Amino acid sequence: MIKTVIFDLDFTLMDWEDEYIFAITNVINRLNLGYSKEKIKEIDDVLVNYENEFTIYENKKLCEFLNKKCNVNLPIEFVDMLIKEQTKCYREFTETEIETLEYLKNKYELIVLSNWFTYTQKKRLENAGILKYFSKVSGGDERELKPSLKAFDIVDNKKECVMIGDSINNDILPAIKLGMQAILMTKKNVKKDLRYRQIRKLEDLKEML
Ligand SMILES: [Mg+2]
Repeated sequence: MIKTVIFDLDFTLMDWEDEYIFAITNVINRLNLGYSKEKIKEIDDVLVNYENEFTIYENKKLCEFLNKKCNVNLPIEFVDMLIKEQTKCYREFTETEIETLEYLKNKYELIVLSNWFTYTQKKRLENAGILKYFSKVSGGDERELKPSLKAFDIVDNKKECVMIGDSINNDILPAIKLGMQAILMTKKNVKKDLRYRQIRKLEDLKEML
């Protein structure tokens, strides 16, 4: 029997929109670094590749990684300022989405398992007014990054969990490996796979769980 529903955050609960590059731009402007638009776009693109080389997010390591890969000289405060600036990146949830979260919270324990910094993710959920639905928010500065199976150690009984995420590699496949159920949430057209179910939006969970 399912007792816990684990959500990924980015592209699952909230999409990754242009405001993220605005967040980087704002921080770079505040630091008076004078980088070009192209350089800022490069930093934004390279940021996610950190996860291919490291198993946990650390300010210093991320800063050094960006400096090396983008050939820049970001000061260590950059990461700290960025994770604060990004707390402004959230969206409003519709009434039906809130109803769905209410419904799920009454039946299950809800958890967020994200790879990005816990501070940012918690604040974004709080600003969107939905933090109260989750008993725990775990970020990739606190534990190993998905797809490491160790990331999923935030829950005890894996067989009683269902993982909801947009990434087959990071969310779905490790969850299945651990004996969890998995639901892929994506607006893209993905080929059917019998190992997991698929939904397009949060509200679809009400019929499934
Ligand atoms: Mg995601």
